[in-house]
Amino acid sequence: MAIQSNNSTRLEMLATKAKGCNFAVLQYCRDTNQMVFWRWPSDGGVRVEPKDLRKHHDTHYMLGPNCLCPASEISAPDFVEAAIYSISKGPLVGKYVASCAQDKCGYFVFLEYIFNRPVLATRTYERRLPHEQAPPLVTHKSEARPLKRTYTMIDINAPDLVPRRAAPVPASGSRPRISSRKNVTHLLELLDSRVAPGVTGAEFRRLFVKCNCGLFFTRRAFQDHTCVGEQRDLTVTEVIDLTGEETEAT
Ligand SMILES: [Zn+2]
Ligand SMILES: [Zn+2]
Repeated sequence: MAIQSNNSTRLEMLATKAKGCNFAVLQYCRDTNQMVFWRWPSDGGVRVEPKDLRKHHDTHYMLGPNCLCPASEISAPDFVEAAIYSISKGPLVGKYVASCAQDKCGYFVFLEYIFNRPVLATRTYERRLPHEQAPPLVTHKSEARPLKRTYTMIDINAPDLVPRRAAPVPASGSRPRISSRKNVTHLLELLDSRVAPGVTGAEFRRLFVKCNCGLFFTRRAFQDHTCVGEQRDLTVTEVIDLTGEETEAT
């Protein structure tokens, strides 16, 4: 577990190598304990632009480069995908880079600079199958907002509040639109109910969120989702799209 000092010197050396290479993006290879090429994706013979790399990650069998975390600890996995993102502040603001998602190992590559160089190691990645789920997008810690924590303040995530809020059983055939906020369990039942089914758009958006990785969840279930993506509230369009997909599938 412990990082030996000679290893940390080596880490620094490898990080410097990655930072200094101007004809290829370098990534760590655990088999050889060396830096090797991460081949820049090329689509129809054209380099994919830095701003489109995340989209390419979704649609093609392409992962971000391996950062140096695997070199830092014996117990680390062989592959730790670096985040590809644009810098949010400072002199490089808006520029695309790849770096350790957690800023732990020192891996940092200035993608935008390398992209504009005349020589660049590239590769054409295969397209994912139409309905294949891409691996979750790796985001950098600078992109994270403390959303998960704020949701613990919302009533639907506090099961202990439910009994206190439980409304009187409605008269059969009618749903109490006037009652304040329905609890999650009630809303989920209404979605698939044989009696007076259905929830409003607002209720639907209160129930479900979408992660940056593309998966949809109930807000409750999202807390157990392990990907590093952030949750987003559903837009009206997404609610319509989602229900549209469901209709087509059946
Ligand atoms: Zn790392
Ligand atoms: Zn996710």
